[in-house]
Amino acid sequence: MTVLADIVRDIFGNPFRPVALDPSLLTPTVTALAAQMYESRDFSAMPILADALQDEGCTSAAVLDHCRGPGPHVRGCWVVDQVLGKGHGRLMTEAEWLTGAEPRLMVKLLSGTVSDRKLRLFACAFYHRLSCVAGDSFADAAVEIAERFADGHATADELSGAATEVSAARDALDYSMANRPAHVALDLARDVTRPDAGQGAGDITRQCAFLCANGPFRTLGRLWWTADHRSVRNDMAAQMDLLRDIFGNPFRPVAFSPAWRTDTAVALASQMYESRDFRAMPVLADALQAAGCDNADVLDHCRAPGLHARGCWVVDLVLGKE
Ligand SMILES: [Zn+2]
Ligand SMILES: [Zn+2]
Repeated sequence: MTVLADIVRDIFGNPFRPVALDPSLLTPTVTALAAQMYESRDFSAMPILADALQDEGCTSAAVLDHCRGPGPHVRGCWVVDQVLGKGHGRLMTEAEWLTGAEPRLMVKLLSGTVSDRKLRLFACAFYHRLSCVAGDSFADAAVEIAERFADGHATADELSGAATEVSAARDALDYSMANRPAHVALDLARDVTRPDAGQGAGDITRQCAFLCANGPFRTLGRLWWTADHRSVRNDMAAQMDLLRDIFGNPFRPVAFSPAWRTDTAVALASQMYESRDFRAMPVLADALQAAGCDNADVLDHCRAPGLHARGCWVVDLVLGKE
């Protein structure tokens, strides 16, 4: 039985932590090694594959540990499959993340690897950005509580109270077209007030957070049939920019030096965080650079014209939030 379980894990990897290999790692040396093992069913060169991947810049502990671990490996091994571009192993490439046209896949890629706080803030930012949804006072209040809950400033009781009020307001609406925007607003508010943190096991928490982030895209899907298609498409594009703003590039995690966290940088970041006004991002870039930050991803993110929301990955790094 144990061996069978090991083989299942070898083929399917860890579904709670999907890994997507950056295509730039897949050099001829790397793919030749994987192909040779696949064909011969002799996987003794797995540690050499790890070395080759690492030489190309692979930093994924899941991948490297899998290659260097005791095995067993079989034809269908998730790492070898990813290198060879076989099967379902590869969720998306870095280029696909950066140009993002597939929100469900993007959320799936993040699932299990990011905090509940960020997923919830994403869902809240989504609500704020959704231009085709008219503000509903119950929904607005619930989203505000969800945001405070994400940062530990509201209790689980307040969150569930907001969820109850949202459900009651939703039930009180009839199904006329005029009520459609309010329905959508309340549906979203219900998603962002899903309970989780602090209750129960990690996996349940993650599942709730995942639903919380995935919910908005279901809502957009439903809106498609009732709203102006062009505005839904524009919203969709903005929402994927929000995903990138909050989660950064999962293919290139940034090592943020504590030395960059100067008083000036922290003051700027917390002021933007509180006010939700991110116009000072280029000033933050200057402050970070003055503190010795030379990371192009960080500086470019602050200076490029773009959308920022509460949960923005650079602001979070400056504030030490996850
Ligand atoms: Zn394997
Ligand atoms: Zn940002």
